[in-house]
Formats: sequence, structure tokens, C-alpha cells
Amino acid sequence: MKKNILLIHTGGTISMSEDTSGAVKPGTNNPLTQGTDHLSGLADLVVEEPFNLPSPHITPKEMMELKYILEDYDKKGNIDGAVITHGTDTLEETAYFLDLTCQASFPVVVTGAMRSSNEIGSDGLYNLISSIRVASSPDAKGKGVLVVLNDEIHTAVNVTKTHTSNISTFQSPQYGPIGIVTKRGVLFHHTPTKHENYPVLDISKKVSLIKAYAGMDSSILKAILGLKVDGVVIEALGQGNLPPAALEGVKDLIKNNIPVVIVSRSFAGIVQDVYGYEGGGKHLKELGVIFSNGLNGQKARIKLLVALTKTDNMDEIAEMFMF
Ligand code: ASP
Repeated sequence: MKKNILLIHTGGTISMSEDTSGAVKPGTNNPLTQGTDHLSGLADLVVEEPFNLPSPHITPKEMMELKYILEDYDKKGNIDGAVITHGTDTLEETAYFLDLTCQASFPVVVTGAMRSSNEIGSDGLYNLISSIRVASSPDAKGKGVLVVLNDEIHTAVNVTKTHTSNISTFQSPQYGPIGIVTKRGVLFHHTPTKHENYPVLDISKKVSLIKAYAGMDSSILKAILGLKVDGVVIEALGQGNLPPAALEGVKDLIKNNIPVVIVSRSFAGIVQDVYGYEGGGKHLKELGVIFSNGLNGQKARIKLLVALTKTDNMDEIAEMFMF
């Protein structure tokens, strides 16, 4: 039997077209909403288009709007799954935000495209069809928010955009996809072992994200302190180390009760308190730096925004990052 699928369009390349000059851009009409007849054999669709934005224009405000749309439909009942079309640049952030905060009980799949609607080899419609099939699958339930592109099913927590233009850009480094989409079916081969979810009413805090580098000093960290942020995420070196000259800035932030969360600038692996030298992980832990458990920088930032809506207690925030 056909399922009832909520289809939410938000913009991005999947909703854009290339003009005669070669510029890819949104038009007045979203090509994805020009009739959904070709999709009607797959599912009974309820279509929403709350906004049509390139994903670099997406902010936590739009992420919250999506969360509320999903939850409202969940309360009304009668929806079996949801698909969100989204620009790929920040897709992983929206997907992870919804994974962390959305209380809807049906499967939610986020998808996009690397080639716009009228380009040769456009992957938009294909990814949309795959996503509707995944959202309709009973096996998609209880696995958190999923990201489906290029015949692969990824978890929102692990997936990241790895290539600027290739259609196989979405990868889950270290863990791989949890399922595949084939002509005949939707096959899950892994199940996530845990899933965290927090009720959140609004996102109003400010969190900065910076990357560590050889020769880094404290100047950026001191400037950030002056910006009155509520938290900082640093993509640290290797297993979680920082140059000694950056420590003064780290100490100043922590002294001012601003949580400093570190992830690794390496794209796989987790940060740990391994090294005992100045600026090494052990030293950072002693200073009160919070270690994240395998998230990349942009997702740790989303998580810190969510954590700060619940508490500004450093120990409680650190506990949330141990998950
Ligand atoms: N720049 C585009 C966006 O994120 C890229 C895409 O959608 O693939 O909106």
C-alpha cells in the first residue's frame, strides 16, 4: 500500500536551474513543485515549501521551522515518513539539528543534489525518488534522521559533504553508510546503537567555530572572547592537541565560563586526552576543555547550540558531549 509522505522543499541546487550564462540559481518557480505526477506512483505526497533558500542562507531559525513543521504533522497523525529537500552545503547541519531535536516519530530523510534540475546527469529527481522510497520503508524507523543521496543511506550524525562537486560527495568517514537503495529495494545493513534527542524551544545562543593550525596563537581566541559568544568549538590537531601559544586564549575563555569544545581537524577518529605535553590532550582536559565524541566541527557547533539551551554548567555540557 502507498504511504503518506510529507515532502518539504527548502531550496538548494535540487530546486535550481542553470541559465544560458551557466549560472546555477533559484527561479521564481521551484522545478520540484512543477507537478509531482511522476512521484505519485511512489507515495501519497503532502507538499510544503516553507522557504526556497540556497543552503548557505539557512540559519538555526529555518532549522527550527522545519522541526516545528515535522512535529505538527506528527501530532496531526496520518504521515508515515518525511523527506526534506535541501542545499547540500549545510545539509548535514540541518539534518543533525533535526536528529538532535525533532520529536516526530516517523522517519525523516534529508536529500539534495549536486547538479541542478536542467543539467545533464541531474541527480535531483533520482535522489528525491530514492528518499521517498527510504522514508516509506518500515526499516527506516528508529534510526534517527537519515541522509539519502547517490543510492546510499547515511545517518545525520556521521555524514559529511566531502567533495565540492562530485555526486558521491556525501560520505560517513570511518563508519560508512547504514544502507543502500537499489532498483528492487531499500536495504539497511547496519543499525545505529544509540540516538540522543533533546526537546528544544528556541536557539538563541552564539557559538563560534575555528580551526587550529601550526603556529596558532591566542589572538583569534581573545578576539572571540570580545565578541561575547556563549561557546567556542575548535577543530584541534590530531587526537586533540593545540599549539602552546593558543592556550592563553583557551584559559581566558574558560575563566569567563565560556565552554570550549574540541573536535579533530582530522576527518575521522575521535579526540582523546592522550598527550601529556604542553597543549596536548591531557593538558587541555586539565584546563577544562570539553572533548567531543567523533563529531565534526560544524556538528559539534550545532550540538553546543542545543546544549546551551539546556544548561550553561560546564560539567553538564561535557557530559552531553560524552554521548
Ligand atoms: N550551494 C548549493 C546549496 O547548498 C549547493 C547544493 O545545493 O548542492 O544550496
